[in-house]
Amino acid sequence: MRFLVATNNTHKFREIRELMPDKFELVNQIEFNIPSPKETGLTFIENALIKARHASIKSGLPAIADDSGLAVEALGGKPGIYSSRFGGPTATDNQNTQKLLKEMEGKDNRTACFHCVVVLVRNEFDPVPLVTQGILKGEILITPKGKEGFGYDSIFFLPDIKKTVAELPIHEKNKLSHRAEALRQLTRMIQ
Ligand code: IMP
Repeated sequence: MRFLVATNNTHKFREIRELMPDKFELVNQIEFNIPSPKETGLTFIENALIKARHASIKSGLPAIADDSGLAVEALGGKPGIYSSRFGGPTATDNQNTQKLLKEMEGKDNRTACFHCVVVLVRNEFDPVPLVTQGILKGEILITPKGKEGFGYDSIFFLPDIKKTVAELPIHEKNKLSHRAEALRQLTRMIQ
């Protein structure tokens, strides 16, 4: 089975590739020169659908999209669907992280969750896309720690294992992440 993965984020693609069975042929949308669509939805589900449908229209292939982000309790769920653009429309991971740390200054409640919604559309008109989701609970640190991963990994602390996600090699992150949970469910549904 051949699927287009609707992301221009190479870190995300790597994680998704490692999380799906080898027998699935996954093509990165970068290879098709497909630009990212405007994420105009107000929820992870809407934005994942927009990305998957757009990629399927442009490639003619079944498409898998992940829309994910960080929800921080003390910030009323922010940055949420705006996680990748929290520090501005072209912000880097580091700028997003720094902005979040600034907003968290003086906050005692550091609880946060990573959310991931994954959508598979078989074609652009698919009336019943497959939709799954995963959550990872943790705490926002005061200063970043670790060099692995991407996004907010370096400030996302996992109390059970006393490490940030950025201190975990990809195969360890893939045992427990929000993306892993969503993709495991999707794999089961496809099979
Ligand atoms: P998307 O590509 O529009 O879904 O935006 C996802 C954004 O959420 C990323 O750019 C990161 O800022 C954040 N994010 C999602 N998943 C992760 C993760 O596994 N680690 C760290 N940050 C993540």
